[in-house]
Amino acid sequence: MNKVFADLPVTIFETMSQLARDNDAINLGQGFPDDPGPEDIRRAAADAVLDGYNQYPSMMGIPELRQAIAAHYHHWHGLSVDPATEVMVTSGGTEALTSAILAMVEPGDEVIVFQPVYDSYLPIIRQAGGIPRLVRLEPPHWRITEDALRGAFTHKTKAVLFNNPLNPAAVVYPREDLELLARFCQEFDVVAICDEVWEHVVFDGREHLPLITIPGMRERTIKIGSAGKIFSLTGWKIGFVCAAPPLLRVTAKVHQFLTFTTAPNLQAAVAYGLTRPDDFFFEMRRELTRRRDRLTRGLEDIGFPVLPSQGTYFLTVDLAPLGLNETDQAFCRRIVTDYKVAAIPVSAFYERDAITSVVRFCFAKKDATLDSALERLSDAM
Ligand code: GLN
Repeated sequence: MNKVFADLPVTIFETMSQLARDNDAINLGQGFPDDPGPEDIRRAAADAVLDGYNQYPSMMGIPELRQAIAAHYHHWHGLSVDPATEVMVTSGGTEALTSAILAMVEPGDEVIVFQPVYDSYLPIIRQAGGIPRLVRLEPPHWRITEDALRGAFTHKTKAVLFNNPLNPAAVVYPREDLELLARFCQEFDVVAICDEVWEHVVFDGREHLPLITIPGMRERTIKIGSAGKIFSLTGWKIGFVCAAPPLLRVTAKVHQFLTFTTAPNLQAAVAYGLTRPDDFFFEMRRELTRRRDRLTRGLEDIGFPVLPSQGTYFLTVDLAPLGLNETDQAFCRRIVTDYKVAAIPVSAFYERDAITSVVRFCFAKKDATLDSALERLSDAM
């Protein structure tokens, strides 16, 4: 059997969701909203099913969606991509990441990865024969520093994997950090695989800056997005890849044997969704901001130190000042069994030198869900 996968644990998201189900707990672990999502977009999908979008679509994605993706990024970021040669639709962001990594990495290549690291990155790098070089980011700011990059980039570095906004730390990286990373990518001739699935989920007037738009990065960046996060429809599993033709061509060769293609009716609905007026996206941000603030206030009232959340569905809590004398893992197991609230231990995002005092909570939930969770957690303090 393949050792890369045989020895892997089940993902922390599935593990905690299962524990939530077993304990009849409120699930603030895995990141998914508990409301049905925008009705007009769901209706567009239903119409597309009934109107006949039900056979194999083009392997690269339906033309309407590829055009909508290109138009959307042009409108929001001034990025020009050719829908015919620079855009591909995948079955979710995870498939896009896997396709991009398998397409770029060869045995012996070093790949720079930032910790906290999303759990799908390392196994796929290893499956490709790549050697992960871990750069550790730390709370409360999780910033990228020149010293850390200088120690990680070598002449063997082939690619860097970069998640921005960063799950689970909820950071939206400023231009300064992106320019620093871009400088290293160019100095060492490295491809950047950018997991930007949270690009629309940014708060307090922040703007997401795609790395591909930083000067010098257009030809060396594979930009990955996800409709699930943009439209709060996480089960739809529609991802997007934008990259210059030489990079996209090889990524598509992997995609053709991973999933080949993606439900065309959902693609049609996402194409409609991406052309919604700006206020649709701003309203989503405002609503999530309100929920972030509700959970933040509630947790602070109970006595949890909440770290800043600039984007994503998540906020994190630092247990260190509480003097609880237990790790994030132990804390999460205890609150799910004793208080019936599930969360995610941030140490699960580290392979080495883990931060063991930070816990992630998902606030993309109805007020009633957040309030019940807070009531239960107040008994834990
Ligand atoms: N991205 C989701 C999260 O961080 C999890 C997705 C999954 O379970 N694979 O919670």
